Amino acid sequence: MATIKALEGRTVHQIQSGQVIVDLCSVVKELVENSLDAGATSIEIRFKNNGLDSIEVQDNGSGIVSQNYETIALKHYTSKLSSYDDLSSLQTFGFRGEALSSLCALSNFHITTARADEAPKGTRLDFEVSGKLRSTQVVASQKGTTVAVENLFMGLPVRRRELEKNIKREYGKVLGILQAYACISTQARISVSNIMAKGKKSVVFATNSNQTTRENIANVFGAKALPALVAMNLSFELHPTKTQGPTSSPENKQVQVLGHVSRPIFGEGRQAPDRQMFFVNSRPCGLPQVAKIFNEVYKSYNFSQLPFIFANILLDTNAYDVNVSPDKRTILLHDQTTLLESIRGSLTALFENQDQTVPQIQKL
Ligand code: ADP
Ligand code: MG
Repeated sequence: MATIKALEGRTVHQIQSGQVIVDLCSVVKELVENSLDAGATSIEIRFKNNGLDSIEVQDNGSGIVSQNYETIALKHYTSKLSSYDDLSSLQTFGFRGEALSSLCALSNFHITTARADEAPKGTRLDFEVSGKLRSTQVVASQKGTTVAVENLFMGLPVRRRELEKNIKREYGKVLGILQAYACISTQARISVSNIMAKGKKSVVFATNSNQTTRENIANVFGAKALPALVAMNLSFELHPTKTQGPTSSPENKQVQVLGHVSRPIFGEGRQAPDRQMFFVNSRPCGLPQVAKIFNEVYKSYNFSQLPFIFANILLDTNAYDVNVSPDKRTILLHDQTTLLESIRGSLTALFENQDQTVPQIQKL
């Protein structure tokens, strides 16, 4: 019988890293969120060969202070969260301090960064597989941070082959996620480009900074998507379903659902793209139960088409938990049943009040 022995440190690191960075989507999501957390107003995402060769995310955010170079890519080092208690009032996307550390284990990875007082001089940081800083080098750099991820999953042959096999689908999923960040980010300009093997660069889409979500949607999906959309501003109170003991507060919780949704009209040629994007306090996430309600209500008005949905649910930070899965895309909503039924009710009311005639094309 084989004896039990401890796994080598490097192996443990790779196994754990594979839980945060599971695919191309998680790489891009983590890097874009870091840029947003750094206060960037411009983020450029550049793919080479659909991300198979490299993914580069360049921002004009705060940059990294030199005191943090040594620890930045070590596991569980974060500048964003200091204790578990902070989680409920979290204002940043990141908090686990795992993304950069994982990327060191799973790719050829380096960072170039400059603070405002350092630019146009910056520093390139290279790391060991463990996340330990290997070397620094002075380079030219604008203010901000560029993170480059080359040859993702190169140390894990099975994952790498899987990625190569499914790259078209993976890349499509990544664009879906980037569309969501681009539409919700009213402060930041987000641009996405891809260079294929033959050297041809294509700009996939680009938004501008200081725009409304409606303008962002026009930039991402084309202005012709707009007339088919109706602005949504649902608002209701969540009444707790059961008594939660003597200490619980009797207050009702105010919820708002802001966004844009397809008008419930029939007919060809007036359809917005059937993209569906959900956010909780502007954090993009998968909310299958909420999506189901939207689609059901829409279907009772228009059974032949799927709606475009952009729905940002604004609620108290105590009313949900983001710490459910390592990729933080799964969000646990407390009081979910009441929330879903309230959405159903107020969405129905919105559609009832909609003029069912064909909308005129409006200027932005
Ligand atoms: P987390 O985001 O959970 O803190 P990460 O591994 O993603 O963990 O990042 C580690 C740390 O590196 C962050 O806490 C932040 O201080 C720094 N960092 C990462 N990306 C950037 C960036 N684009 N600009 C400035 N600082 C960054
Ligand atoms: Mg992060």
